[in-house]
Amino acid sequence: MINLAVLLKIKSRRLTHQNSRARRSNAIVILLHYADGGNLEITMAIPVNIVTGFLGVGKTTSIINLVKQKSQKNQTAERWAVLINEFGTVGIDAAILQSQVPDQQLAIKEVPGGCLCCTAGLPFQIGLNQLISKQRPDRLIIEPTGLGHLSEIIKTLQAEHYQDVLQLQSVICLVDPVALSDARYIEHEVFQDQLQQADVVLANKIDQSSAKDIEIFEQLIERLQPAISAKVEQGKIEAEWLNLPHKAHLTPAHGHQHADHQTPALSGASLQGDEDWRRFESKGQGYVSCGWIVVDAAIFDEIQLLGWVSGQQVERIKGVVRTNQGWRIINVRDGIASMTSIDEAADSRLEMIHSDVFDIEIAEQSFLQAIVSLDK
Ligand SMILES: [Zn+2]
Repeated sequence: MINLAVLLKIKSRRLTHQNSRARRSNAIVILLHYADGGNLEITMAIPVNIVTGFLGVGKTTSIINLVKQKSQKNQTAERWAVLINEFGTVGIDAAILQSQVPDQQLAIKEVPGGCLCCTAGLPFQIGLNQLISKQRPDRLIIEPTGLGHLSEIIKTLQAEHYQDVLQLQSVICLVDPVALSDARYIEHEVFQDQLQQADVVLANKIDQSSAKDIEIFEQLIERLQPAISAKVEQGKIEAEWLNLPHKAHLTPAHGHQHADHQTPALSGASLQGDEDWRRFESKGQGYVSCGWIVVDAAIFDEIQLLGWVSGQQVERIKGVVRTNQGWRIINVRDGIASMTSIDEAADSRLEMIHSDVFDIEIAEQSFLQAIVSLDK
């Protein structure tokens, strides 16, 4: 960490002389001081946003929308970095983002394998440092897993060694109004923490919410009093909300339970050697996850896959899969399945998350049976 501070100092000095692009952009000048030779040195902190919300609320879709907005507004010179953290070991969201946004100015870093503050703590710091020193983005967006400990992640970002380097701006929390009547969500300390820390609270998927759901959301906003609240579809975040400062909140005194079963992964999961598929399992924060990566040569029958997906009694399924009808993004939450077509991906990967044990062997058998050919 000491080395990091030195490295970043050197990096930012070099930037002062060479990188006028960064100065024109939205990067924030936070320090003006005289360096050894009496030169005026400008140190710029990278604005950071966190997009949070419970499992399956639409965080990745929101980020895709944001990046598309940036590209459309002719701000292609602005370089963004997105750090995506997932509960499971198989990285799905980064693959989705990559396939949906062909932005040359976007750096994507994946940190799978649990919460950024505990099990994936070390990979998070390494990934973050790599993004800062190698990419020097004009903005960094972090998507923690829906089961991450937000207060602790914020503490990491505001630690002393990042103070001249990162500036935390708005924390955006997406809420599914339908879930507000479900005790599993509202009583979960991870969910409460997300709401407490949020500067922007958005009711997402309002097209799927009832008047009663919206009313409960409005009562929640009344209580929380965030700087901004809105009701949106497709996780639509307005770009100007990103520039709000993050308001400090008190961290709950009882702390939180760290996951203790998960193994940290230093990079995204992948297949080894010439294997055709591999299973990955993890658990923590009261949830179990199981995922698979399948070689891109394997083609799934779309109808059989959809049947399989619909038959699984788990809270969340997401994936990127090659089917006989083309590549598909698969999303299931609370029994509602959706498929979106994409151009292609590096391999097929799918993950299931559930708050109770489920029969992984049986699920796996029928999942793999949906492969109709191995086009090698
Ligand atoms: Zn944690």
